[in-house]
Formats: sequence, C-alpha cells, structure tokens
Amino acid sequence: MVTSKARLVDGNGRRYAPPMSNLHRLKKEDVKPAAGRDIDAWCSRCKTDLGHTIVAMIDTTVAQVRCNTCGGTHRYRSGEPTVKKAATGKRKPTKASIKAAAMAVERAKERFLKRLVTMDTSEAINYSPRLNPERGDLIRHVKFGLGIVERVANDKANVSFEVGEKLLVVGR
Ligand SMILES: [Zn+2]
Repeated sequence: MVTSKARLVDGNGRRYAPPMSNLHRLKKEDVKPAAGRDIDAWCSRCKTDLGHTIVAMIDTTVAQVRCNTCGGTHRYRSGEPTVKKAATGKRKPTKASIKAAAMAVERAKERFLKRLVTMDTSEAINYSPRLNPERGDLIRHVKFGLGIVERVANDKANVSFEVGEKLLVVGR
C-alpha cells in the first residue's frame, strides 16, 4: 500500500498530527521583537538570511542578535548589506604593496651600488647646472651624492643616485 505524502502515518499505520515544533513561531507581524525572541536577520558570518535570537533591544529597535546557525553575536541587519563601491579607482595601499614597493627601492639601490663599485669614484665630476655630461658619466651631487648619468636630453639629465633617479638641469 502506497502512503500518500500528505497523510502523516506512523510505523503502525496510525495517523498522527503534524509536529508542533514550528507552531509556536508566530508570524513576524504578530510578534513584537523582544530580547530572547527569534528574528530573521542577515548573518555577516554565514552570509545569508537566517534565524537569529534577539540579544539586545534599544527601545523598540533590535540592536544585537545571535545567529542560531553559527552562534555569532552581531549587530542586527534585516538583509544583505549593499556592497560599498570604491570611491575612486585609486586603491588604498595594502601592507603587501607597501612592502613590495620598499623591496623594489631596495633592489634598485643594490643594482646602483653594484654599478658604482665598478667605477672610479675619484673621477666623479662635481655637479653644476653648467655641466655638459654624457651618458655613463659619474657625477657628485651636493645633496644626492655620487650619481651615474643615464640620459641627457633638452638641458636635462636623468641621473641614478643611491636614493633613486633624479632629473637634473644641465648645459646652462
Ligand atoms: Zn551565522
């Protein structure tokens, strides 16, 4: 004999009443929220709408809830929070990106110092804007120290120093 899904029959073929467990949960609009009562809320940990227990009220507003699923206590939210869009295209530097930038500077400095040891520093020319340097010349700058001329164009010279590349005026 096939048992209809709609009829609840126990092992002895006797009909029985549907379980009562959900009947005590009244409809949302019938129940005023109060501490200890259940409420559907957004769980930031489970990332979905779930049954929560109200932990704290501020006047008639639900303030804090505890997720019945993960047990986490958090501020009450009635639905999925809207994702905040980045204000501008510029991303905030992360710890990792700051570290990477610092390492790049360190590597550039190492490369520069490796080139410098191959040069005769006694031949360094003191920098002045009247200088007409050529690519590969070694100059000495009052502020930046020893530098290697990388490019010269339009009265400007790109010079590598230990602190990084600088654009210096030349040929005046
Ligand atoms: Zn949860």
